Amino acid sequence: MLKSINPVTNEVVKTYKPHSEDGVEKIINSVDKTWHHWRSTSFHHRGQLMQNAASILRSKKEELALLMAQEMGKVRSEGIAEIEKCAWVCEYYAVNAESFLENEIIETQASKSYVSFQPLGTILAVMPWNFPFWQVFRFAAPTLMAGNTAVLKHASNVPGCAVAIEDIFREAGFPENIFRSLLIGSSMVEKVIKHKAIKAVSLTGSTPAGKSVAALAGAELKKCVLELGGSDPYLILKDADLEMAAKTCAAGRLLNAGQSCIGAKRFIVEESVYAHFLELFTNEMAEAQFGDPFEEESTMGPMAREDLRDELHQQVVDSVNKGAEVILGGEIPHRKGAFYPPTILENIKPGMPVYEEELFGPVASVIKVKDEQEAIHVANDTDFGLGAAVFTNNLKKGEHIAEMELEAGACFVNDFVKSDPRLPFGGIKTSGFGRELSVHGIKEFVNVKTVFVK
Ligand code: NDP
Repeated sequence: MLKSINPVTNEVVKTYKPHSEDGVEKIINSVDKTWHHWRSTSFHHRGQLMQNAASILRSKKEELALLMAQEMGKVRSEGIAEIEKCAWVCEYYAVNAESFLENEIIETQASKSYVSFQPLGTILAVMPWNFPFWQVFRFAAPTLMAGNTAVLKHASNVPGCAVAIEDIFREAGFPENIFRSLLIGSSMVEKVIKHKAIKAVSLTGSTPAGKSVAALAGAELKKCVLELGGSDPYLILKDADLEMAAKTCAAGRLLNAGQSCIGAKRFIVEESVYAHFLELFTNEMAEAQFGDPFEEESTMGPMAREDLRDELHQQVVDSVNKGAEVILGGEIPHRKGAFYPPTILENIKPGMPVYEEELFGPVASVIKVKDEQEAIHVANDTDFGLGAAVFTNNLKKGEHIAEMELEAGACFVNDFVKSDPRLPFGGIKTSGFGRELSVHGIKEFVNVKTVFVK
């Protein structure tokens, strides 16, 4: 059984019967059958249905936020914002898909030669629990608008969200089998990837899950897009507006109880402003109110599962045993649920989990460096390469560091890293490959076809 467990109470909210192997086979075959019709529908028709999906999302935002709160602990205000962002990405691709995928004429000796962007077929999405609607919609909107169909294997702890997403597409008027959720555990993913009808895979999740899925897809010669973990560095240079930086960094670290791949994780501060920044940052982090995600005063909910909270705490304990110092938090609260307090560690050295690994929760590492050059070196001294940010009042310098020096897929100046339907999103190094969103995202799952007429 797949279980929704409320991370505030650790009680089972609902159980879902998983699909059998036979059931999975039937669903994939029906989705594939639908593709043969869907691929030749017009952009106008697809766009109208996608606009319907956006309206349904907006009209159901309260109930969908409640579902997320119950299954993974997201606070109400963040849940509503997530659903609104899903509606935005649906509208964005409803309006722009056709121009993004317009034929590109290329002059050659032919009477006519051009590039056409044709759908691939049925795409598998393996998705995580941290933004259970956003991660799926940012995949589904461009994928369906490009003329593909899709099956979703959502994280095992958010089956209610998986079912709700399937229902939204159905209610919007999409064909019955254009987008289906497979209620299965990760051990069934291999079979799904091997299925003849599955043409490509998109995975968002941890680096180990990404490596496993990439290996399976590689063995089948199927394309994959991987959006994996990150340990985003934020550089605080000595000429930064420290108050703004401290506020922005704390907000970036605590969003979604710290469970975001592009969460601000390592704060690398020039030594002349280190003490002042740490004081301001500690005050900001200490202001967070963690509690029931549906109580007005809660700015932060519990983590999504108790095992994830315990893993995070172990990373903190192991780092402290190696010499890191706790400035704030660092202890499991005496209450029921998967709660963890906002935590700050300093005196961070290479070899500690907080330096080397992703910390997927509300824990910030603050690292003192002597100058800008050392800050850039420490920022890049990681296997990850998802996002990065630099805080400075010298915008020219900030832009240069963002563009030329930081090894990441998205580098922001004076703001925390966020995804936006208009901008490409993805990483380098062990943070994955391929891009989601924008014109780049919709071109991941298409056949870039050359047509040549003599
Ligand atoms: P996982 O990466 O394990 O899960 C993400 C998705 O991948 C889920 O649907 C999961 O299914 C599936 N999956 C996991 N392992 C495999 C596999 N070997 N083959 C195929 N599918 C697989 O995340 P966890 O929930 O275990 O979280 C662990 C850590 O992952 C976090 O602490 C964090 O560091 C990172 N993470 C990163 C995210 C990001 O946005 N980059 C999002 C979520 C987690 P199932 O749930 O059934 O196991």
